[in-house]
Amino acid sequence: MPRPDTEAHAQPGFPEKIKAFRAGTVLTMVKDQPPLRDGVLITDQGRIQEVVSYQEAKKHSSLAIQDLGPSVLVPGLINAHTHLELSHLQGRTVAGRGFTEWVKSLISLPLKDIDRGTLEKVRGRLARNGTIGVGDISGHSPRTMLDFLSASGLFFRFFVEQIGFSQPPGKAVPGFKGLQPERHPELSPYGHALYSTHPRTLQLSKAWCREQRRPFVLHLAEHPGETELLATGRGAFAEFLKQGLLPESFAPPGLSPVAYADDLGLLDRNTLAVHLVQVSPADLAVLKARGVAACLCPRSNAYINVGRAPAEQFLDAGLPICLATDSLTSNSDLDLWSEAAFFARELQEDISLQDLVAMLTATPARALQLERYIGTLEKGKAACFSLIPEDLLRRLPLQ
Ligand SMILES: [Zn+2]
Repeated sequence: MPRPDTEAHAQPGFPEKIKAFRAGTVLTMVKDQPPLRDGVLITDQGRIQEVVSYQEAKKHSSLAIQDLGPSVLVPGLINAHTHLELSHLQGRTVAGRGFTEWVKSLISLPLKDIDRGTLEKVRGRLARNGTIGVGDISGHSPRTMLDFLSASGLFFRFFVEQIGFSQPPGKAVPGFKGLQPERHPELSPYGHALYSTHPRTLQLSKAWCREQRRPFVLHLAEHPGETELLATGRGAFAEFLKQGLLPESFAPPGLSPVAYADDLGLLDRNTLAVHLVQVSPADLAVLKARGVAACLCPRSNAYINVGRAPAEQFLDAGLPICLATDSLTSNSDLDLWSEAAFFARELQEDISLQDLVAMLTATPARALQLERYIGTLEKGKAACFSLIPEDLLRRLPLQ
């Protein structure tokens, strides 16, 4: 998780010895700090020393300042929800026909075959678009992925999948598939979903995270089949699950996904709920009351064709929102700037550039408990940054 030894690296090609970066505007993303015009990010041995005006920086005569022109410099980006272990399967799933068809196509693929070459390409892609942190999910190749992430230079949280409907014995702790959570503070269990993981397993996983003070992740309220299954036990998705995963004896709780997750005690301010497409106003009130962070994956939802999250209502309610790409089995790339542009285009109200950038930086840093290291441009944090692409700036000018 902590990688504070890395040099400012989000823009490849800068000589390593350069320690200061001048930009037309710097957004530190520190609460209530206004944009700094003609600002300079000064770094020292891979950490941020300070953010000052160019006039101030010029007083340090020994400082070599790299001029980035009129760009807007922001903290390095954080992709709060990915499944990098599925990156070799890009373009091989069914698109646009709903969740059941998508997941059927997914599980017919060689899920465990992630290879080093693909992962190296992934690392390059993430660096190119300024991503320096991930919340990564693994169910199939946890050892390979933990080794990859540990050597990647990324800051990360790593979530090990809990799936299946067999009743866990007594007070069993979550399984980590041979990994040792006591040696790796970046590890957490993650509940795959309410329809795929025994409720007791979900509760034990959440309880473990609470005790260890680690974040918990859950795919929640992603698609209509999930809502129908939990409300009635019926539907095409239910029939599909009963072919293998879901026991015939499954008794639907008769609740919405959010209400059921709350009933199980899974929701609090250290839970990151991923997708949240099927959310009613009553559900939103629950999410808000519990302090849950929402992780929206709008391009994934569009790819699978499950609808879209009521983001306008989330914004009005002040729910913390992260934007993420999900995996390459439901997205065309891992580029968070493209995700942000898509989100802003779909939104039926205006959003400020600062609010959008927060969904890629400060908010996911808090949700993944990485804010000591990344998420804002503040003294002592990692000297990593990204530049807002020009096309996004043209559409959402800085206020
Ligand atoms: Zn996911």
